[in-house]
Amino acid sequence: MATCDECGRNENMPYHCQHCGGTYCGEHRLPENHGCPGLDDWNDPSGIFDSGFDDGVDNPGDRSSSGRLSGVFDTGVGGPLGFFRGNMTFVFLALMFVTFALQYATQFILAPAGSLFLTPSSREIYQALFTISPEHPLYVWTWFTSIFAHGGLVHLLFNAIVIYFFGQQVERYVGSRDFALLFLGSGVLAGLGHVAVELLRGGELTPALGASGAALAILGVLTVLNPDLRVYLYFLIPVPIWAITAFYAFVSVSGVLGVQILPGVADAAHLVGLVVGLAYGQHVKDRVKARDRLQFGGGRGGGGMGGRGRGPF
Ligand SMILES: [Zn+2]
Ligand SMILES: [Zn+2]
Repeated sequence: MATCDECGRNENMPYHCQHCGGTYCGEHRLPENHGCPGLDDWNDPSGIFDSGFDDGVDNPGDRSSSGRLSGVFDTGVGGPLGFFRGNMTFVFLALMFVTFALQYATQFILAPAGSLFLTPSSREIYQALFTISPEHPLYVWTWFTSIFAHGGLVHLLFNAIVIYFFGQQVERYVGSRDFALLFLGSGVLAGLGHVAVELLRGGELTPALGASGAALAILGVLTVLNPDLRVYLYFLIPVPIWAITAFYAFVSVSGVLGVQILPGVADAAHLVGLVVGLAYGQHVKDRVKARDRLQFGGGRGGGGMGGRGRGPF
């Protein structure tokens, strides 16, 4: 038994809209009939990660390549990119962990035999692979690799937890393609923001790495869409998401102005990520109906890598 998000009617066999994640009665199950926030994306023929309504019962596979310029970018049921639909959060998380393993492997290969420490020249190679550096801002690949690389396990796990819980929400709200663009775009801009501030500030130039910029962009989007969303800090303490965002904004602005509160953190990158997220949230606000609550550590069954059958939290 569930209630329709559109008309409130009780429904024994509710439908879940794959695009917006809402629950609907038979009458309102189609995106057209519930003012689905993702309808624009759904109709976008060039959608790379098009995540439309999965109406697998009535017209299985109907949305496959017919009428499209190229079947290559088709993420409909059975399309070549079908797996990525609704799963970009997990793709990015996987890339973070794979990159972390590659960092260790690279370190092992580059270090002199019997040592765990890199020589100055091998350190340069390592940094040119995994960090975005103010000394080499035109190593374009590092704009992307630095998003997925991390400075340690705690750093990795913290970002992974934020992305796991909040990323799925944002991905469902805006669609997988836009989510992917947001993630990569905010990550690149955060890295370049760090580079710019380091160069302006002068002195010792430190490289940066990590998905924090993208994670804070995700946090920013959710804050605009639903500022009162309850987040359970340490799985126990309910805090509205706006308070967490305000805390990070304060810490980041303070750091950029020269008063670092959290040591070893790229404050400029955090600030850029947050601003990108808040701006993007404002941009998509009209077409998105946000959910009320997100409870860390509980609530949702199923889902996971399969990405199908997502219910409300
Ligand atoms: Zn209804
Ligand atoms: Zn919908």
